[in-house]
Amino acid sequence: MQTIERKSLLYKSEVEYADFCLNHVEGCSHGCKYPCYAYMMKRRCGIVKTYEEWCKPKIVSNALELLDKEIPKYKSKIKYVHLCFSTDPFMYEQEQVCDLSLKIIDKLNANSIRCTVLTHLEDIIMWGIFYDIIIM
Ligand code: SF4
Repeated sequence: MQTIERKSLLYKSEVEYADFCLNHVEGCSHGCKYPCYAYMMKRRCGIVKTYEEWCKPKIVSNALELLDKEIPKYKSKIKYVHLCFSTDPFMYEQEQVCDLSLKIIDKLNANSIRCTVLTHLEDIIMWGIFYDIIIM
């Protein structure tokens, strides 16, 4: 799987049902065609050039390092962190994406930060037993 680096990860959302958010993956192999708002926005901004490129996700290789820097900075302001508005954090058959998502949730939970998760993956309900997450 290809990787990218980012300069920051956590950001305050302007969506009313979210608080802080993060997007640790660029693209989404689900490739929904109903259409996908995230894909349309990335395409409009020139970050993703084609639908085929969108369907080949790239993980943010420095996501955990960024969190180590940003959690102390934002911790007192965060009610919960939402994963994700511009990708599915638990894409089918994308083990690296799922692993990174769980590591991120684990790190946030270890800092007493709850998470909300938006995904197509039904098994996530079972993982709610092990992680402090709200499934949307
Ligand atoms: S799962 Fe979400 S982010 Fe992924 S393609 Fe479908 S609508 Fe877009």
